Amino acid sequence: MAQSVDVVVIGGGFAGITAARDLQKRGFKVLVLEARDRLGGRTWSEDRNGFHVELGGTWVHWTQPFVWAEKERYGLEVQETPGCVAERVSIKIDGQVQELQESQLGEFVEGFERFFAEAKGVWERPYDAHHCWDALCERDGLTVADRFNALELTPLQRTSIGGFLEILCMNQPQNASYVEMMRCWSLTGWNYELFNDTAARYKFTKGTGALVEAMARDGGFDVSLNSPVRSVQQSDQGVCVTTESGELVIAKRAVVTVPLNVLHNVAFEPPLSEVKLEASRLKHVGGGYKVFFEVEGDPGAVMTLSRSTDSPLIGSFTYKRGEQHSVLAGFSLEPGALDKSVEEWQVVLEEFIPGVRLLSTFGHDWGADDLSQGSWATYRPGTVARFNDELPRQEGHVFFASGDHAQGWRGFIEGAIASGSRTAVTVADSLSAQAAGASAESVKQPAQA
Ligand SMILES: Cc1cc2nc3c(=O)[nH]c(=O)nc-3n(C[C@H](O)[C@H](O)[C@H](O)COP(=O)(O)OP(=O)(O)OC[C@H]3O[C@@H](n4cnc5c(N)ncnc54)[C@H](O)[C@@H]3O)c2cc1C
Repeated sequence: MAQSVDVVVIGGGFAGITAARDLQKRGFKVLVLEARDRLGGRTWSEDRNGFHVELGGTWVHWTQPFVWAEKERYGLEVQETPGCVAERVSIKIDGQVQELQESQLGEFVEGFERFFAEAKGVWERPYDAHHCWDALCERDGLTVADRFNALELTPLQRTSIGGFLEILCMNQPQNASYVEMMRCWSLTGWNYELFNDTAARYKFTKGTGALVEAMARDGGFDVSLNSPVRSVQQSDQGVCVTTESGELVIAKRAVVTVPLNVLHNVAFEPPLSEVKLEASRLKHVGGGYKVFFEVEGDPGAVMTLSRSTDSPLIGSFTYKRGEQHSVLAGFSLEPGALDKSVEEWQVVLEEFIPGVRLLSTFGHDWGADDLSQGSWATYRPGTVARFNDELPRQEGHVFFASGDHAQGWRGFIEGAIASGSRTAVTVADSLSAQAAGASAESVKQPAQA
């Protein structure tokens, strides 16, 4: 027997649960089909080694209006990440680890301002790619490395911007789009302090899981976990969705929120547009590893920065301080970073934080995860103009929402919520228009008869 609902939402990350909540609250019957055994997708709050950590998406900020509104709506608290506003910053420049001096801060910030000097001209309105479309298209083919190489930067600037951008791209500068990095700078008001704070200062005290739970409870939509979707078939009436185990769901509309890098694994009939398929098969390049380091005692509020060419650790900062043991969140582009032994990481970490004693490391391999095949979305050079409008474009009764193709904060929790919210309105409008059309038709029919 097929289950019948108004809207089936495929994928229960933030884009999916936002769309589901907003549609259910508008009076539609909604079912979320989620392949994992939990909601939240690429956010995942877990207790590991006695610490509450975020294995995926973590930091939020008031420069991100949708997620901040959710935080306020549900009365959730945030807490500071000690190492984001560090007492001590260790940077590896030309093979040498140095401590950033207060007198170097101007040079440090000036490097970011020079790198992003064109951002206002490309993303004067960072939620509207078309506002400066020509300027965007002109630079779309450029990599982060192209921009980097065109500037004369000091060694300190090369390492600080290089390391920071490698974290933001989660890939090497030659693989990532320069235009996309400028969007993030514009979204934080072309201001280093806001850029830094948005990246890693505030996290939910009770984890992103608390927001997932609040939204799901408030939404009241139905959820079917462990239900990977195999195919989506459209007809004039709506969609028929089949899960891997052969269950059928009939719905008037589908909202597809699976990550871009795995979208091509779902069979659509009729097939998805060529551009959507191409984008999914090509994949965004957000990869890398978020690695947690459990260390003995309290190392203080520290931050480390390096280029991936100089260290397996491109950046790290104190995540949680404790008297007995503390945790640092780190980022690495080195393949197999999560399999490195404690002894190997001890050598790496000690270079930046002398005397530190590493107890354990942990993390989740989002690149090897079949349901994400990547971390946060970073577009390849030369793809922004082509994919910007096409990825969120509705195809018949099938609608799309994802942090991976949101306007504004693409690649972030914020983008997922914004995209889910916007798609819910479009879906609701289309269902209301269909209902209005049907009732007009039923009034006309007896009159004609
Ligand atoms: C390590 C890491 C760190 C990050 N740090 C931050 C951060 O600090 N701040 C921030 O804002 N963002 C961060 N992000 C990005 C942020 O987590 C994502 O952009 C956001 O969570 C994406 O939400 P989404 O709903 O679009 O996709 P997802 O969360 O990926 O949700 C999609 C869902 O679809 C499911 N799915 C896939 N295939 C199928 C199928 N066939 N059938 C049914 N279900 C399916 C998946 O299991 C998943 O639950 C980070 C991401 C990672 C991985």
